[in-house]
Amino acid sequence: MVGAARPVKIPERRHGAWPHCPNIRSRQTHAIGPLTTPACGASVAAMPDPIRDTIFALSSGRPPAAIAVVRISGPHAGDALAVLAGRLPEPRKAALARVRDPASGEAIDEALALWFPRPNSETGEDIAELQLHGGRAVIAAVLGALGRIEGLRPAEAGEFTRRAFENGRLDLTAVEGLADLIGAETEAQRRQAYRQLKGLLGKRAETWRARMIEALALVEARIDFSDEADVPEDLIGPALKIVQGLRDEIADALAGAARGERLRDGLVVAIAGPPNAGKSTLLNRIARREAAIVSPIPGTTRDVIEVHLDLDGYPVTLLDTAGIRDSDDPVEQEGVRRARQRASEADLVLWVYDANDGPTRSGSPFSGSVIKWLVRNKVDLLPIHERNELKKKNEFELSDIVFNLSATTGLGVAEFLAHLGDYAKSYFGAESSLLTRERHRKALNVAQSALDRVLAEGPSGREDIIAEELRLAAQSLGRLTGQVDVEDILDVIFRDFCIGK
Ligand code: GDP
Repeated sequence: MVGAARPVKIPERRHGAWPHCPNIRSRQTHAIGPLTTPACGASVAAMPDPIRDTIFALSSGRPPAAIAVVRISGPHAGDALAVLAGRLPEPRKAALARVRDPASGEAIDEALALWFPRPNSETGEDIAELQLHGGRAVIAAVLGALGRIEGLRPAEAGEFTRRAFENGRLDLTAVEGLADLIGAETEAQRRQAYRQLKGLLGKRAETWRARMIEALALVEARIDFSDEADVPEDLIGPALKIVQGLRDEIADALAGAARGERLRDGLVVAIAGPPNAGKSTLLNRIARREAAIVSPIPGTTRDVIEVHLDLDGYPVTLLDTAGIRDSDDPVEQEGVRRARQRASEADLVLWVYDANDGPTRSGSPFSGSVIKWLVRNKVDLLPIHERNELKKKNEFELSDIVFNLSATTGLGVAEFLAHLGDYAKSYFGAESSLLTRERHRKALNVAQSALDRVLAEGPSGREDIIAEELRLAAQSLGRLTGQVDVEDILDVIFRDFCIGK
């Protein structure tokens, strides 16, 4: 078990350098803290200090793999690397190193060692990195050896990133962008996440906050110096002008919020229609795997089945809803209820029906605003000249868009998918949305409402009320980037991370 064996003490440094290790001399010297038992008598493990602990973890994917990356961050990172690799490499330069178990001296592996002294490292702390051969036993031996070094402990999920945030290397929106970048499955998701990581929202929010504070300063000057003759009468006017501009920009950002949030989750397309119309067959053909059970007996697809697609870089989630029809069977009734619910929340509904029967409105999940396309399936069973004909023109008042296809033969499916890809592209648009999460939307809504109240006060409004609302708006933006008062939301945000990140 990691950390269970007797701790390895790191030898004392002489004159700030490791013996036989000239590179060490060039290291930044900083308070490294006791490497043995702390002065108070409690061991580091018994009294964990979330900031001062040195943490380590496997940061690369699941072994076995060609290479495994083990990262160490914290005040003892350099010493730990020197103990394992025999020396510290030059900062930011890869060096070949023989990694040894410090307790037995036995060689574990040959690795590339990297050393990133603080503060210009990812976490803002000293970071050491080993690129090992990615075998399970190699990784276990190295993690085991690290765990036996006093002052080191395995990292919690997301702890490297959390330290980066706490040390001011990333703001909260960038942390979220990083989580999204790791989770991105399509090109559009990757692009959006990368911009977020690079501060698209964070920098904008900080600029808005600075302008709010500028407006607030004008209002406060008016309050503080209202009796003095040389303070210009009209400070509220310029403040309101700033507020108006801010309000419009925030409203613009909010208008694209739904798009940004959707891009994270995927455009939701529900496949609905009468039982036996071929919905599951169509889903399977699109997903090219047996995601849904295909059965010739009506009403067997009782649950909602999801398939995630990457259509031209855009994420689309397809839902196969249960055969929608009235039934006495309570299990099937539940399936029908769920199907209607999911279909009514979807961005687009595909109403699939058997071309031999025509569409039926009975049991239709269509609610007012959901966009729907008709999919006329099983056209392979029709004579060729009828395949592209609609049976009765007036049956299609539900939708202008009708696809003729055969889920079993694949006829017309490529055209249908091309259309769906175009739809996703136009839905998400070329421009990346600034807001990608409900948290962002809520923060900007609070700010916008406060600015609206400022504008409602107008030039003759009460200055103390205007100042208070501006403070509220600025605080909400501060929470967005993590500048103020965010303890309560940190756990929710870092929950998305895996160990080693
Ligand atoms: P669902 O209840 O709407 O999900 O329908 P299924 O996908 O389970 O299909 C019902 C039956 O119709 C199965 O026997 C399928 O093989 C058949 N079927 C589905 N699509 C087609 C099609 O395009 N052509 C033909 N000939 N049969 C199909």
